[in-house]
Amino acid sequence: MKLILPFVFAAAAACAAAPRQPNIVFIFSDDHAYQAISAYGEERKLLATPNIDRIGQGGVRFDRCLVTNSICGPARATILTGKYSHLNGFPNNSNSTFDGAQTTFPKLMQKAGYQTAIVGKWHLGSDPTGFDFWQILPGQGIYYNPPMIKMGTQVKVPGYVTDIITDVSLDWLQKRDKSKPFLIMMQHKAPHREWAPALRHLDADKDRVYAEPSTLFDDYSGRGLAEHDQDMTIEKTFTDRDAKLSPPPGMTPEQLKIWEAYYEPRNAKFRAANLKGKDLVRWRYQRYMHDYLATVRAVDESVGRMLDYLDKEGLAENTLIVYASDQGFYLGEHGWFDKRWIFEESVRTPFLVRWPGVTKPGTVNTDLVSNLDFGETFLAAAGLPVPAEMQGRSLVPILRGQRPADWRTAFYYQYFEYPTPHHVRPHYGVVTDRYKLVRFYGTKEDYWELFDRQKDPKELRSVYADPAYAPTVAELEKELTRLRKELKVPDEIPARFFGNQGVEGGGQRKKKQAKQND
Ligand code: CA
Repeated sequence: MKLILPFVFAAAAACAAAPRQPNIVFIFSDDHAYQAISAYGEERKLLATPNIDRIGQGGVRFDRCLVTNSICGPARATILTGKYSHLNGFPNNSNSTFDGAQTTFPKLMQKAGYQTAIVGKWHLGSDPTGFDFWQILPGQGIYYNPPMIKMGTQVKVPGYVTDIITDVSLDWLQKRDKSKPFLIMMQHKAPHREWAPALRHLDADKDRVYAEPSTLFDDYSGRGLAEHDQDMTIEKTFTDRDAKLSPPPGMTPEQLKIWEAYYEPRNAKFRAANLKGKDLVRWRYQRYMHDYLATVRAVDESVGRMLDYLDKEGLAENTLIVYASDQGFYLGEHGWFDKRWIFEESVRTPFLVRWPGVTKPGTVNTDLVSNLDFGETFLAAAGLPVPAEMQGRSLVPILRGQRPADWRTAFYYQYFEYPTPHHVRPHYGVVTDRYKLVRFYGTKEDYWELFDRQKDPKELRSVYADPAYAPTVAELEKELTRLRKELKVPDEIPARFFGNQGVEGGGQRKKKQAKQND
């Protein structure tokens, strides 16, 4: 049995009145890089996100929230179960289906009297369980006029996906039983590939020229086969749809007309220029930033609408509100888009929490926390016991500014899906404040890397073979062995964990499949 701080008693002691369980608003986006949130203050200053920032200003901005397995479905399964992929049965996006009979935190909250709802991207194959209301996108979903599944029935909703998910969420909140606490998971598709903006945001950046990351033309020297051998570069992997040389699916003729009025003159100029090599990469990077950041604008508006609703209804004071993404994302760093890696832009997800009366406004936290801890945190916040089988730990003490003395100082990461899509080799490793020790496993090219983030913050040079780091390697190997045992990681990984083709099977890079699965 885990020790949890019983919020109920603490609150009762504090105010001597009957304690109230907090509402939980979990706003979750897909592939939202912390580099594209102004609260995180990235050097390129890509975009202002005033509404997402409001959550951090009123509470805690976590700077090292790491995910257990950096892709969409696995991250969602980890959050629901509080377990790593090898135990929750959802290791990849290719051939996994979530077993909804498992214990999940929404189920436990529902059982304890919470009203529960999930709206938006689900991406776990099976139907949601543990929710009084659910309306989800099938699979990845589309940006315009998306088909949705509402409590098992197909519906088609006109409009832009981020607005729809917000509308449906607020509508459910309005109609809920106001005598009970609630949990709502508002889960956006945006800013996932293919980054299709709302029509109102097409011209929002006024053709701004974005600063390039210093590693846009990374040659991957100083690192091994995996970094050289991936299929996720702006140079080689970007499609015409990614570049908006062809429009996204599902638009009405009226929407398409507005879309083309924006893109066609710019695309005509691009075609006439016949760009090659680095010039082509530079043009694509600018187009990528325009589109990706425009989709984030709508997400930020959605957060603003939710915060305003909570204020207007007098709910904000008793609501724990979270903004997070399913993982990090590359915005041109190392020449990449996508995620999957143990490296910082990918493994680190944005995580902002506001809980009035508990979190101190404007706090910045650098403890190693994880999406593995989210469910445990919500249960503990509600005063509910955390099942021993969950592998994370409640963040409630940290939210109060009271980090437990035995908080984790090393974090375990493991990625499986290979070879499609994106050809990122399976790897696992241990992350500490300063170091990352990584083993690329599962293929015949089995090897290790070590990164010293203090000396090499952009993770450009493996120092694994440097004799000066031998004691560090030995220490981290010990830590890795300890974590793998504690977390019950099997030595032999079943072939299906790697996806449809098995780790060495096929080996063909299928771009069509990559588009569907990533
Ligand atoms: Ca994702």
